[in-house]
Amino acid sequence: MTTSQTSVSHPAEYTELLGRLATVHDLHAASAVLGWDQMTYLPAGAGGPRGRHLATLTRLAHEHFTDDRIGVLLDSLGPFESSLPSDSDEASLLRIARQDYRRAVRVPGSFMATFAEHQSASYQAWAVARPANDWEAVTPILERTVDLSREYAGFFPRTAHLADVFVDEAEPGLDVASVRELFSSLRARLVPMVRQIIAQPRPDDTFLTRAYPVDTQWQFGEMVARKLGYDFERGRQDRAPHPFTTSFSRNDVRITTRLSETDLRFGLFATMHEAGHGMYEQGVAPGLDGTLLGSGASSGVHESQSRLWENVVGRSRGFWKWGYSRLQSTFPGQLGDVTADQFYRAINRVEPSLIRVEADEMTYNLHIMMRFDFELALLDGSLRVTDLPEAWNARFKDDLGITPPSNQDGCMQDVHWFASPIAGQFQGYTIGNVLSAQCFDRACEVHPSIPTEIESGEFGTLLSWLQTNLHALGRKYDVNDTIVRATGRALTIEPYLDYLRDKFGDLYDLS
Ligand code: ZN
Repeated sequence: MTTSQTSVSHPAEYTELLGRLATVHDLHAASAVLGWDQMTYLPAGAGGPRGRHLATLTRLAHEHFTDDRIGVLLDSLGPFESSLPSDSDEASLLRIARQDYRRAVRVPGSFMATFAEHQSASYQAWAVARPANDWEAVTPILERTVDLSREYAGFFPRTAHLADVFVDEAEPGLDVASVRELFSSLRARLVPMVRQIIAQPRPDDTFLTRAYPVDTQWQFGEMVARKLGYDFERGRQDRAPHPFTTSFSRNDVRITTRLSETDLRFGLFATMHEAGHGMYEQGVAPGLDGTLLGSGASSGVHESQSRLWENVVGRSRGFWKWGYSRLQSTFPGQLGDVTADQFYRAINRVEPSLIRVEADEMTYNLHIMMRFDFELALLDGSLRVTDLPEAWNARFKDDLGITPPSNQDGCMQDVHWFASPIAGQFQGYTIGNVLSAQCFDRACEVHPSIPTEIESGEFGTLLSWLQTNLHALGRKYDVNDTIVRATGRALTIEPYLDYLRDKFGDLYDLS
């Protein structure tokens, strides 16, 4: 590991620890390649063997990481760690390694393998059942996921809520109570704005659902991702039914997108979103690559980067001042009769909708908050899996005024509960939304030229500010510490609410 403190001489134990952690990292990276393949190109019949491959690698990684020798090395390196500044790469690595190790040794490797195999089978079952709207097929699988998630939580000391361990894993330093507090203050301000907006006439967006050839969409999306700063020399884009980003190293960060011939929004914004995740991973400091610190700080912080590029930049007037003439000349038949202002209003149209990934910026967080509440209820047993569809539809009606016509577009729509534990999966999206505005605000405070640069298709100042102040930190710090270091203040909803009020106040009447 090369660091900013190159003068630090490493004890032999530290070098040995790095070597052992590198092995664990490589096994995880190999799992991630198989996971990427499973979500993109795996032939339908190859599901069983793939689940076994993943289970084997997960078990091996877990066994190597929980080896007693790692505990001995971590103990013996205590004095070395105390002799270093706590923000040095070495001290941070030891701190995070100790935290991960203490967590991992609580969980038997056999359980990790069982869970990995179950997740793989669960994902494959969902991929078949969702298009068929076959809720019965996935009910027992989801029940098993809930049981396994509870069993996992049971390996840890009892906390205020069973889901605390999952929230802390996704968002280090946060817990159920802190997320609830954030969500309730946001919800109190958001719901009145949403009600005001949806009572108003909606702008026309029918031209977004004309026929858009997917190959041309693909080329336009790649051009935009490249322009934003996603490095195709250290990554690639592929198609996936549920877009995601995965990283095996800062030099190999894969993004995916999905394209619809009849909706321009899907591919365009999914590409910008995933490019945002991708640029974060590509921007981790080179010295952290291949270590426990060589990835993003948390799912919420990660999501702040995808949201920043997708929404704060990608759905702004300024961006389309640069981009619209390019898009229009790419699709002259479809957009020739549409002005830039009409296009801007259409891509920011607010409307209660069934599908989270298609939701507008205003209603999106309501989708997240309901999922967060359902996760807690499923995990603590106050909601049974068999009652989920009914509870889902009732909450949907309350929050968004519409009832899903099917489970396919209701409680089965997201991959998360079918590829991960039942809790800790969704809060990051709203934390990310909140933080995207906070980051952009701070970047513009330091570089007031950013909004004008965006209007001329220049994104380098913004990206390099993000790289220096956030991306480079990798996973050295917990969520709060990362946010304070990057933006100079703790997580706050104010910049996000200001952003929403300014933007949607201009589009709609918000008294
Ligand atoms: Zn994302």
